[in-house]
Amino acid sequence: MEKVKHWLNRLFGFYYRQGSLKLRGVSFAAATLVFLAAYFLLHGIWGEGITALSILPAVVAGLAFGVGGGFLAGLFLAGLNLLLIFAFGHQDPYLLLRSGGLAGIISVPPIAVVVGLLRNLSQTLNNELVLRRQAEERLLLSQQDLDTLFHTVEDIIVVFDRQGMILKVNRAVERKLGVDAAELEGKHLSALIPERAQAINTVVRKIWEEGLAHHDFSFPTRDGAQIPVETYLSRGSWQGKPAVFAISRDMSRHQASREAEREQRSLAEALASTAMALNSSLEFNQIIELILDNVGQVVPHDAANIMLQNGVTTRVIARRGYQQFEVDEEVAQTDYRLEDLPSLYRMSQEKQPVIVPDTHNSTEWRKNRRTQHVRSYIGAPIISRGRVMGFINLESTTPNFYHAVHAERLQSLASQAGLAIEKSELYDEIQKLAITDELTGILNRRGLFELGQREVDRAVRFKHHLSVIILDLDHFKAVNDHFGHSTGDAVLRELANRCRENIRDVDILGRYGGEEFVILLLECDLRCAAIVAERLRNAVAAAPFTIGSTRLEVTISLGAAQLDPRGNQQVEALIDQADKALYISKETGRNRLTIAASKEEVR
Ligand code: GH3
Ligand code: MG
Ligand code: MG
Repeated sequence: MEKVKHWLNRLFGFYYRQGSLKLRGVSFAAATLVFLAAYFLLHGIWGEGITALSILPAVVAGLAFGVGGGFLAGLFLAGLNLLLIFAFGHQDPYLLLRSGGLAGIISVPPIAVVVGLLRNLSQTLNNELVLRRQAEERLLLSQQDLDTLFHTVEDIIVVFDRQGMILKVNRAVERKLGVDAAELEGKHLSALIPERAQAINTVVRKIWEEGLAHHDFSFPTRDGAQIPVETYLSRGSWQGKPAVFAISRDMSRHQASREAEREQRSLAEALASTAMALNSSLEFNQIIELILDNVGQVVPHDAANIMLQNGVTTRVIARRGYQQFEVDEEVAQTDYRLEDLPSLYRMSQEKQPVIVPDTHNSTEWRKNRRTQHVRSYIGAPIISRGRVMGFINLESTTPNFYHAVHAERLQSLASQAGLAIEKSELYDEIQKLAITDELTGILNRRGLFELGQREVDRAVRFKHHLSVIILDLDHFKAVNDHFGHSTGDAVLRELANRCRENIRDVDILGRYGGEEFVILLLECDLRCAAIVAERLRNAVAAAPFTIGSTRLEVTISLGAAQLDPRGNQQVEALIDQADKALYISKETGRNRLTIAASKEEVR
């Protein structure tokens, strides 16, 4: 039947699909003229039987005009035949008509009608064929569209059956996970997440029981990363069989932006709280510890340290997290040469943060026992007064952990630290200035009382001995009077030096008044104080003071007292006691020591 339709369509379709009504009219007219010509040419040979040729224009009419037009043309041709027979026939027309000619003439219109019918039928058939082809094409196109859609969507789509066997999976799986889609088809779902086979079976069972479901989990990629996905599962059918459609949306970007937002917030908070803490903290060590306490909120790490640069070497002065790698001792005890550590060296030169994304693939990284846990490194210089004074170093055990954004954050923390240190140094300096005697460089009266009281308190608390010596230049007024005030100043400076040289670093030396100095001797009883005082007296009296070209014989008088833990525990009271002893030394001839408690004079 298909074949018949095909040939009908080819035979008639060609003609009637050609051209306009005019063309078809012309072709009918031409066929009629051909018939007329044939009639006149041939009816001499073949007689009136030649009218049978009128079938030709009848067929053409049927083809050209269909049933209606064909019928009218058929009537016209039948009439024409009659006319020809009666007008030009050489035989008796009536005889001819009787002998079957009439039947021939009558058959012409039906022939045209039949051909017209066939033509109409063919046209319908053709229309049908065209419509069908169009429908097929449309179907194919929409199938292709669906297929394209299926494979190009960002989401991973997996179709699986009751047993969890994969029936179809789209190409997102190749783009996202690096797994071949065709390879997965026919395999169990656990091929996608091998480490969660058990959980997958539970999910598959549940989805068949409950219908719609939603799950959050992660797909492992071929290169070992994890892609977090939000998956919606629904039941349907695939190629006529019940199946489940699982559509998984990659949430990593979403998660990353959420993470970034959270990080940004905690960063701002961390920086603000660190800034506040740093502002209120004025001691250098406190600042260093504070930075390490807070840096984790700004840049994550597994271990952290702060190094102080000292010329060409650098040393860790504070650290966190090295016990877990059993290198705590090494970190604390090593002095490094800057030029042996390229990353630190570069930081000290460029004053910019440095990242070593992967220590296994970096020429800037020196591997040793102490650094073997480090896979990713970031450091920032601590700059104070334009000078790199140290480094904040952070270490991660994850390769490629640190990025530019971490560098930015670490640098802002390092800058705050630098400012705080700057401030603390300034503060230290101001503090120092406030308690230093300008002329001699030793403690002034205020410093003497401040530090002195601290030592008195400590001695009381720990039941340590503590003694005080007060000394006064003998006849100093005369030195000023004879040699001038500036020579007097030089004598005071020299006296301070001789005192400093004859006591320990821990002892406290201060200028109590004009030419009166006080020394607090820590862990020293009266006997010890007497020895020190005598040594001082001798250090002054034995060698003349040389001021420019002037040589001066100078002596001092001294008084000493010892702290009584049960008595007055104010440093002023202790000094007063010694001062009273000093007065006795002055009274009894100068250049001598008097010990307060015993009122014993030692010469
Ligand atoms: P003595 O203590 O032996 O009784 O006699 P003195 O001459 O030292 O007596 P006094 O303690 O009264 O004099 C202290 C002098 O020290 C007075 C003052 O001119 C001098 N003097 C105090 N401070 C300074 C100073 O900063 N520079 C100088 N050049 N002289 C000072
Ligand atoms: Mg004096
Ligand atoms: Mg005096």
